[in-house]
Amino acid sequence: MDKIYNFSAGPSVLPEAAMKQAQKEFLNYRNTGISVLEMSHRSSVFGKIIESAEQRLRKLLSITDHFQVLFLQGGASLQFAMVPLNLFHDKTGQADFIDTGSWSGKAIQEAGRYGEVRVVATSEDENFSYIPELDRGKCNPNADFFHITMNNTIFGTRFTSIPTTGSVPLVADMSSFILSEAIDISKFGLVYAGAQKNIAPAGLTIVILRKDLLGRHMAVTPVMLQYKTHADNKSLYNTPPCFGIYFADLVFQWIEEMGGIHALETINREKAGLLYDCIDNSRLFRGTSRKEHRSLMNVTFLLPNEDLTKQFIAEAETNGLIALKGHRSMGGLRASLYNAMPVEGVKKLISFMGKFDKKN
Ligand code: PMP
Repeated sequence: MDKIYNFSAGPSVLPEAAMKQAQKEFLNYRNTGISVLEMSHRSSVFGKIIESAEQRLRKLLSITDHFQVLFLQGGASLQFAMVPLNLFHDKTGQADFIDTGSWSGKAIQEAGRYGEVRVVATSEDENFSYIPELDRGKCNPNADFFHITMNNTIFGTRFTSIPTTGSVPLVADMSSFILSEAIDISKFGLVYAGAQKNIAPAGLTIVILRKDLLGRHMAVTPVMLQYKTHADNKSLYNTPPCFGIYFADLVFQWIEEMGGIHALETINREKAGLLYDCIDNSRLFRGTSRKEHRSLMNVTFLLPNEDLTKQFIAEAETNGLIALKGHRSMGGLRASLYNAMPVEGVKKLISFMGKFDKKN
């Protein structure tokens, strides 16, 4: 079978080296005679795995000791609730949000259940095709947090600079951004990411938060949803997503071997640049987001009509280029170029797009 290139937005392509390593030790993890899937999360062997994953992530992102790293479950969607439940002051919780599309919309809605939320900037007027300017004068200096969605998986945009929020903790959903380009984590109060894009299989959620933000949760917050519970127990309060954590460790090791985040960022810029150039130079394809805010991870584009779109997706599939359909709320096309997508995959897509352009 010819190589399949998987452009899915998540769960998505994972590094082949990590997959092969997991396959190699699947039945017998490093002479324990059992699989990681079968291992107690309290065993010393698993203890080493989770410690290794945390240390590698800390190194890759230069996370200082002022921050806690947590390995949780529930996806980024649970963070839409956990963030306000943990950062809002009881009864008087307040937060500011920048609205850049569906995911930030869900975060806004969920936080609104627990306190007062305000949208201080939005790009809804142009179907979320850009990142709106922030007027600092509109921001609430007494907010408990300020929330952004760093990369917008559905609309194909990303923040290229980090808003300054003074003493208000900046919170970022980095689900489709984390580990794709260099970022200064110390500028944030809290970042979270579902692992199923750049890190591991679905089921693991990573939270990185400033330690001084621990322990100020609202009184109603269930024990399981308090960051402090997980911090006090080194992410082993209950059974964590063991296999996801193990796999994350393998992916972090792969990133180290690739040369770290800066090396990956260079490749990611090259991949996205190739595809955006192809779109910009074509008669048929049209990009959907403003050039200065284009996502490196999720390239969204359109064909002139629905029939051509369907034809493109079907023909791409027979050429081994799969999962190019845009999100159901957005339509059109989307190619997700996460870290594990090789440059060859993008080149093959571009070559196919060139032929499709000529033919139609
Ligand atoms: N935020 C962003 C930016 C996402 O892309 C996604 C998933 N595609 C989510 C949140 C929701 O993540 P989960 O499915 O892990 O809850």
